[in-house]
Amino acid sequence: MNLILLGGPGAGKGTQAKKLIDKYQVPQISTGDILRAAVKEGTEMGKKAKEYMDAGKLVPDEVVIGIIKDRLAQPDCKKGFILDGFPRTVPQAEALDKVLVGLKTGIDHVVSIDVDEEALVVRLTGRRTCKNAACGQMFHIKFTPSKKEGVCDKCGGELYQRDDDNEATVRNRLKTYNDATAPLIG
Ligand code: AMP
Repeated sequence: MNLILLGGPGAGKGTQAKKLIDKYQVPQISTGDILRAAVKEGTEMGKKAKEYMDAGKLVPDEVVIGIIKDRLAQPDCKKGFILDGFPRTVPQAEALDKVLVGLKTGIDHVVSIDVDEEALVVRLTGRRTCKNAACGQMFHIKFTPSKKEGVCDKCGGELYQRDDDNEATVRNRLKTYNDATAPLIG
């Protein structure tokens, strides 16, 4: 099963991907997660990507296409994969087609998750995530608060707010989604 999850920031791509990986035992490939890991490690790519991410803009196509090309060539993707947050532009989708032809495979399904924009703002600005990368459990300060403020119910890890989940950046991310990513649906 080769799947793409499309949808605005906060639509629930990552949440649904986690449910699907449990069911189908295929990897979730999130370009956002890969970029955040590079930022945390302080790699050259991470340093460059951070400026775009903090501004709510897209990281240049050639960077994310390179990431996906390497990731899809890994053996665990042979039995399927779930793309979460890629492609986000028409050139990325075209590059993906080429990569998949090279790997003698294709996409089986694309799921587009459609959520009202103001609901996305409320979801993202209240989102809190467990710092423990092996856990990554998500909470929401109103909808699904942790039992103890700032502490993960699942593993006891510290909860944090993503740098790009403040309202100004969220609004930029929504604009970027409408301008660059929504046209992919067609
Ligand atoms: P996400 O975790 O999917 O919300 O992504 C967080 C940020 O990473 C985005 O706002 C972009 O700056 C960057 N990013 C993630 N995936 C892509 C992509 N496919 N193309 C360009 N930038 C991306």
